[in-house]
Amino acid sequence: MDTTSRRTKIIATLGPASSDEHMLRSMIAAGMDCVRINMSHGKVEDGIALYHRVRALGAEAGRPVGTLVDLPGPKVRAGSFGSESVILEEGRAVRLTPGNTGSTAEVIEVNYDDLLRDIEPGDTLSFGDGAIDCRITGVDGDSLVAEVTHGGRLSGRPGVHIPSDRLRISTPTREDLRILDAFVEVGVDMVAVSFVRSAHDVRRVGTEPHPRGPLVVAKIETRAAVENLEGIIDAAGAVMIARGDLGNECSIEELPHLQKHIIRMCIAHGRPAITATQMLESMVYAATPTRAEASDVANAVFDGSSAVMLSGETAIGHDPANVVRTMARLAARADANFDYSAWSRQLVEMHMHEPSALDRQVTDALTMAAGRVARDLGCAAILCITRSGFTVRAMARFRPDAKILGFSPDERTINQLTLSWGAIPLPLTQFASNDEMVTEAVAVAKAQGHVRSGDIVAVLAGTDARSRATDVLRVVNVA
Ligand code: PEP
Repeated sequence: MDTTSRRTKIIATLGPASSDEHMLRSMIAAGMDCVRINMSHGKVEDGIALYHRVRALGAEAGRPVGTLVDLPGPKVRAGSFGSESVILEEGRAVRLTPGNTGSTAEVIEVNYDDLLRDIEPGDTLSFGDGAIDCRITGVDGDSLVAEVTHGGRLSGRPGVHIPSDRLRISTPTREDLRILDAFVEVGVDMVAVSFVRSAHDVRRVGTEPHPRGPLVVAKIETRAAVENLEGIIDAAGAVMIARGDLGNECSIEELPHLQKHIIRMCIAHGRPAITATQMLESMVYAATPTRAEASDVANAVFDGSSAVMLSGETAIGHDPANVVRTMARLAARADANFDYSAWSRQLVEMHMHEPSALDRQVTDALTMAAGRVARDLGCAAILCITRSGFTVRAMARFRPDAKILGFSPDERTINQLTLSWGAIPLPLTQFASNDEMVTEAVAVAKAQGHVRSGDIVAVLAGTDARSRATDVLRVVNVA
């Protein structure tokens, strides 16, 4: 499968299996568009060192590789079970107690001080992305007593899912903001915020609007976030469907439908949607994915995901570069089968956004027109000249068959476009007038082999720096 025409982006989580230069180089060569540095594990200094390594290797490869730091949020974990796995047998009683030192099959420590105050008999706590469930049956002294209702193996420090309506800690936490400060200082491109429940949580991140600050990715993984989805999407720069924790908060049969619903809402708002977690999970150990995983990736593409994300597969898996290569093949094949014209027809018919600010209506109308022009005239590419990436993201909603070239004078915008569907990010020198920018963009597109003499291209741009709308559409015959 030729993966050079792949349009759905790939984000890979880094970890012990994928932190050294040699492996990172292979992952970039295999098609990794963006890395996720998961700060639920490891020290800030190590995360920053990894960030610099990725930056240097992206420069060496001569293409942008986006950097996304994922803040842990109020992530609750069990005290370590050690490196050998421990079996929790179904039907057995266990004790849950606040603490952070060590856990056994009989006593599990949980690093949540208010465990006894906030959790009640009848609640279910899950361990390790829903692998094991325990139902609380009572309280005994300084411990909760629970019955293992779904057993299995645990090792290391698994996450503990506490129902978000019981959890009193808000997000981002003070620790999140400390981590974020360190990453903003070095110029990270994107930040993912865990366990958001409202638009207010997204705004509390408090960084400069992108591209001056990082693009804020809201992780949808609580019931409250699903209820407040529209406000969260509006406040965020992008959204991640964090299926691991979301699958703990809702019934498992709801999850595929929530995925489709969240993606549709993101498209209506012109926000990239990232589908995440357990996409190629079996490849932590195996050299090929299960048939169900292969279908999951293709369906995530058909749903309209801008990017698909790899988690444990690349962080602790036995061959992260092979996982990225496999994901690239699966996504490219699904892209090739994507029904682009049905999609854009559906989007035009779909209620795209509440009639709102004129800027938004102008952008909706012009990007829709560019899609139509590209289809009717058989354009080789749509050139989007953008400061913040807004025009590219608005255009990508229509999933045009033509290439989307995203030109920006801003380096961080270029990096942020690594998670936008179909966008080929290209740097552009700043020019005084629109005419000069159009001429330069066409020349760069031709010099880099994206278009040829005789091609027709559509060019989209905003008239000036103050414009918040995409209000210029040109059709250019490449000389
Ligand atoms: C998830 O829950 O699916 C997710 C992506 O978040 P984390 O890996 O932080 O649990």
